[in-house]
Amino acid sequence: VLEGGDRRVTRCSVTEISSMATSVLWPLSMAILYGYCGHVTVTHKPCHLPLCMGLYKIDTHIHTSRSSCCAIVSGREIVHWYKDAGYYGVVITDHFARDYSMPSLNATWEERIEHFLAGYREAYAEGRKIGFVVLLGMELRFTENPNDYLVYGIDEEFLMGHEDFYEMGLASFKKLASENGILIYQAHPFRPVMQLADPAFLDGVEVFNGAHTGDYEDNLAYEFAKAHNLLMLSGSDFHSRVHLARGGIILSEEVHTSQELAKVLRENRNVELIRGERIKPNR
Ligand SMILES: [Zn+2]
Ligand SMILES: [Zn+2]
Repeated sequence: VLEGGDRRVTRCSVTEISSMATSVLWPLSMAILYGYCGHVTVTHKPCHLPLCMGLYKIDTHIHTSRSSCCAIVSGREIVHWYKDAGYYGVVITDHFARDYSMPSLNATWEERIEHFLAGYREAYAEGRKIGFVVLLGMELRFTENPNDYLVYGIDEEFLMGHEDFYEMGLASFKKLASENGILIYQAHPFRPVMQLADPAFLDGVEVFNGAHTGDYEDNLAYEFAKAHNLLMLSGSDFHSRVHLARGGIILSEEVHTSQELAKVLRENRNVELIRGERIKPNR
């Protein structure tokens, strides 16, 4: 059981409501919570209860079809779906690796970055239109091994200015990241083929991944993060509609840039983890 998820539920739990209400109101509270409170049931509906106001749900791990060849939904659609699901924002974390999901193997650095940013830019533009926050992140793979890292706090200038940084490897990149206020989380570290990274070069670990069908890998990730006192993160790993709103975080303050998000995460200011429903294995 993930502690972050437990804390989240406590904030808007039935117990909390019942302590304020008489026993006559108990069945009513239950009905309202299970009907409308996405924080309890993860029903994909926005929560309008006063106890849940002032909370900002953000999905931290999202791929767009434009920039990740394994994803099938456009940034434009993603923004609408997540807004309808009651989220405040999303972080677009498209894949970035030397040999994966690039326009061509001999593309220039600028062409690679432009391709990587295309999905984010489309989502961002649509978000501006409808009042939905879209932040820039990345799922980065170095050439040294098949591990994936979720990166927050980057901007276009940083990306353009550090050519071939996927050749650096985690240890060297961590130094550069720290100098630039960038956070590195190992994504789904216990999936097959992944290798556990040296915790000295991580800020955190993704301990809930919405694309997993069971708890096993995430529970191990949680134990790993706890043992090394690393930050914890939850994200949907959205590639298609089946992953919609299965993970993310709840903040108690607004963030408007990737750097602001990185700051809140680093300081661990009331960051609560969403532990969504698992995908049914037969889907
Ligand atoms: Zn993917
Ligand atoms: Zn991913």
